[in-house]
Amino acid sequence: MSGSRAARAVSLLLCLAAVPAAAQQRQPLDAKRLAALKQEVAAEVDRMQVFTQQMVDQLFSFGELGFQEFESSKYLVGVLRQNGFTVTEHVGGIPTAWLATWGGGKPVIALGSDIDGIPQASQKPGVAYRDPLVEGAPGHGEGHNSGQAVIITAAIAVKKVMERDRIPGTVKIWPGVAEEQLGTKAYLVREGVFKDVDVNIFTHVGDNFQVGWGQEEGTGLVSAQYSFLGETAHAAGAPWRGRSALDAVELTDIGWNFRREHLRPATRVHYVIKDGGDQPNVVPRTAMVWYYFRETSYSRIKDLFDLGTTMANGAAQMAGVKLNPVRIVGSAWPTHFNKPLAEAAYRNMQSVGLPTWSADDQTLARAVQQELKVPTTGLATTIEKLGTPVPDSMNRGGGSDDIGDVSWNVPTITVNFPSNIPNMPGHNWVNAIAMATPIAHKGATAGAKVVGLTMLDVLSQPSLVDSAWSYFRNVQTKDQQYVPFIGAEDQPAIELNESIMAKYREKMRPFYYDPTRYKTYLEQLGIKYPTLRAQP
Ligand SMILES: [Zn+2]
Repeated sequence: MSGSRAARAVSLLLCLAAVPAAAQQRQPLDAKRLAALKQEVAAEVDRMQVFTQQMVDQLFSFGELGFQEFESSKYLVGVLRQNGFTVTEHVGGIPTAWLATWGGGKPVIALGSDIDGIPQASQKPGVAYRDPLVEGAPGHGEGHNSGQAVIITAAIAVKKVMERDRIPGTVKIWPGVAEEQLGTKAYLVREGVFKDVDVNIFTHVGDNFQVGWGQEEGTGLVSAQYSFLGETAHAAGAPWRGRSALDAVELTDIGWNFRREHLRPATRVHYVIKDGGDQPNVVPRTAMVWYYFRETSYSRIKDLFDLGTTMANGAAQMAGVKLNPVRIVGSAWPTHFNKPLAEAAYRNMQSVGLPTWSADDQTLARAVQQELKVPTTGLATTIEKLGTPVPDSMNRGGGSDDIGDVSWNVPTITVNFPSNIPNMPGHNWVNAIAMATPIAHKGATAGAKVVGLTMLDVLSQPSLVDSAWSYFRNVQTKDQQYVPFIGAEDQPAIELNESIMAKYREKMRPFYYDPTRYKTYLEQLGIKYPTLRAQP
């Protein structure tokens, strides 16, 4: 939440002291010079293809769930330190969060991408039908194994040019920990990770190049756990002496399932019961239900969450049990992306173009689409249009991403890059199939070029940073200011997924990728690319 002219002037002065005379003015580069630098960075990203591929494959093989990304974080921190970044670990009290910094002075460019996986998404890459590496284990069924490769590659390629030409600027790289739980970005904001940042470029896997500005279709949310406390008793011998916490969970759910009829079409409310008691003959003393409350605006999300707590209180009264303090375990503002930055990134997407897909890439894509009985369109060959704001009346709801919180604190865009197959369901093993194959590798290289080129735009054109902040201040936050859903006392839910990873980690370990022995993860697994279902 910075970018104030005064602050920028001070830090510019500070950086002038350290930078030799030739590079002192942050003058806009002339168009010819910028074009030459862009070509150079794109060529450097091409030369780094093996490096990029190894990062994509390595994270795929770790397949870690939110808050348990220990191997992934250790590996990425190592890569960044080897490449000259200073890394702070354990950011915001989150064991797997870190912040890597390189350079000095303004502008400060933050680059982020998620790193967590999906439960029960274990899948052999390059195989066009369900074939898990470890049955029941998590995996990258959302493709979060690819984004860090995109931003790290871009950062290193741009850093090389910055060092040679003594271009001032600071690059900060951060991980989206536990994005699937909407678990950490509000905490990173609270921790001040973005307070001196001028521009935040976020990346996310897609099945095409895509970037947009304004509020897109989708929701923000509060994710909260309601736990109840009753009293045990012999469920047959003296049930009247017990009070069932599970009753309160079920009454909460019944309340919501009746209320559903009277919610706006864009509202989403869903739950899982994480504790339903121990055994039938003991009246459950404890029970817990976990809710996601999704809506399209801050005030509606807040109202929905308040209603959730009213329902849980009512259920507790009916069941004669106590409602424990409500725990917020995740939150996300609806996203709002920056117009000038999105337009700059979009121009770079057009100049980079989609990857050249091989016949094998297309064969895999079509076989997977056929397996799912969705249109067999293959891989994307035309870039999508620049995304524009979706008016609230047209927003049909949908998913959330806690990049929303960052987007309300600093000018932010999400660059979606083409590393996956179109028409997939999301959050599913099938979304993992392409994610350690040439499809993901080529998409990550193309994505790194777009991020690198957009970084050069920001570094070389102070007017772009100014117009990004002007949009942020005068349009985006004119009538709506950021108020976090989390309170000062809330803490990240770092225990989430601990038991699932404890169950599967040792079974997954033999499948970790070893780039010192194998060129690719496909080679290590001995998978023929692509592997198709045997024809009957
Ligand atoms: Zn995601």
